[in-house]
Amino acid sequence: MALTTSPLVNSSCLIFWKFRIPPKVKFFLWKLEHQVLPTKVFLAGRLHNSNFSPFCSWCSTHEESLRHLFLECTLAEWCWNEICSMWSIRRDSLVQMDFSLINLFGLVQEAEVKETWHSVASATLWSIWIFRNDFVFNNRKPKKDGVLSILKTRVHKWLEVNGSLSKSWENLFNVNPVGAIRLSFKQQCVVFWESLRRKYDLIVAIDGAVSKKSASTSHAGIGGVIKNKDGALIYVFSGPSSASHAFEAEKEACMHVVNSMAGKFPNTFKIVICSDSVETIKYMEDLKYEAVINNNGRHGCMEVLFQSDFRAINRRVNFEADGLAKSGIAKAQLEEEWT
Ligand SMILES: [Zn+2]
Repeated sequence: MALTTSPLVNSSCLIFWKFRIPPKVKFFLWKLEHQVLPTKVFLAGRLHNSNFSPFCSWCSTHEESLRHLFLECTLAEWCWNEICSMWSIRRDSLVQMDFSLINLFGLVQEAEVKETWHSVASATLWSIWIFRNDFVFNNRKPKKDGVLSILKTRVHKWLEVNGSLSKSWENLFNVNPVGAIRLSFKQQCVVFWESLRRKYDLIVAIDGAVSKKSASTSHAGIGGVIKNKDGALIYVFSGPSSASHAFEAEKEACMHVVNSMAGKFPNTFKIVICSDSVETIKYMEDLKYEAVINNNGRHGCMEVLFQSDFRAINRRVNFEADGLAKSGIAKAQLEEEWT
């Protein structure tokens, strides 16, 4: 295999820096992408030592290139066969693809489970590397069952730590990962919103969305819901916005809901306003703080500001407001309804 210093894939694959995986694994992926992982072939090219064998330690039948080690060797075959069968990915599509991180991470496209797949594929590559190193340096070579059991445990652990899989769905995950991730997510949403309902009388979720049509034109929308302690919907809004970037749209959605609530609820009500934009939450908290120190009168929307907590939430649990903001982009005017 020719050694080059050019990246294995184009720079768009640098998305793996955003993956929810251990930092050392991101560094490992970076080395893999830049073809500087010390495989036998890599070392043979660097050492200029004619006695150094570039052959794969695990199977001894092929040179240990990146493609061989991570896709074709028996060790890789065990791991990918298991993962592909769990995810209903045709093994052919893996074997026939050009070995690159972007191709591998692109094998699963469904929005809901794409991030989980990124973690699973990263855990598989990392496991292959760890097994290979343990054999090269410690002469430990587990059997297939041992390899697969360690691989699955690692995948479960990573997904549990990054919050995408609850322990109760681990067994289902082994046969139907997509179903398990969906159920796990639903359960997390229920638990999350319930925890807010226990503390507040009104739970507000807002969002802003911007769609870039071209470099110069963009269209935006705002949307959100207010629910009561029982989870019943009491207000919904969705409409267009003149904002040119997401923060402006989020801020607008937030101010809209604060103004809409003015004078409508008892001032003893505890309100929480949730947004997935940390910037917006900070802006609203500053606004509240200024109102407090300037001793602004407690009436109308000021009262709402005083009685509200502002909370940054995960984008994934904010899907209701997100959908309303996105559909608001195409609307001619704001649609709202109190129920
Ligand atoms: Zn091999």
